[in-house]
Amino acid sequence: MNDNQKDIYNLLTDIERYFMQQEELFGNLIYPEKSAVAKILENEVIEDWQKSGTLDELNSKISSCVKCSLGSTRTNFVFGVGNPNAKVMFIGEAPGVDEDAQGEPFVGRAGQLLNKILAAVNLKREEVYICNILKCRPPQNRDPLATEMETCTPYLEKQIELIKPQFIICLGRIAAQWLLQTNDTLTRLREKVHKYRDTKLIITYHPAALLRNPNWKRPAWEDMKMFRKLYNELNNINNL
Ligand code: SF4
Repeated sequence: MNDNQKDIYNLLTDIERYFMQQEELFGNLIYPEKSAVAKILENEVIEDWQKSGTLDELNSKISSCVKCSLGSTRTNFVFGVGNPNAKVMFIGEAPGVDEDAQGEPFVGRAGQLLNKILAAVNLKREEVYICNILKCRPPQNRDPLATEMETCTPYLEKQIELIKPQFIICLGRIAAQWLLQTNDTLTRLREKVHKYRDTKLIITYHPAALLRNPNWKRPAWEDMKMFRKLYNELNNINNL
């Protein structure tokens, strides 16, 4: 070792000793910025599915989800169906027995009634997008739990982000109350245009409820007429 090398060695040893003393005295407090950055990074871990650029990609990335207990009791994961560029999204609460069996939302009798409701306002099932807040069926068709909806809603939000609809139509009280974070009754929530983030949101009866109580078909028709009028105005359409 020559003199120059000895000087550098001594300097590095002094520096090392200085940092060791500082660490003994202050622990991690001497690196507060580093700790803060690490904390931010920890809180902003982006999951792979969040980077999905299409609905198909999202579907394939989340279809094995078991983030809540419904993942272990479902027969099929029910992502959603329809036009990925739909102007209108219909959102219900959760798959039922038929949906769970077929892996598609709103099939069976309630689905057939929804198709008729669509036809009444001159829309086809293929033109719109149809899904639920929960992607897996709650056992015995019980109401979704708040914790289940909280866990599953980020998937719905990603669907909305990818589709960018002009209108969301909530089918039933549970979907409406959850998306609007309110306890108001369906009666108080209907006949108004709400907003979910930047999207117009209209509320009507769930088709399964209309099957149970046909008296609600008339007010449901009024809801759909209100929607169609607004849809026409926004899209410069003159006829129904
Ligand atoms: S309901 Fe949603 S969060 Fe729960 S397992 Fe199914 S996809 Fe995952």
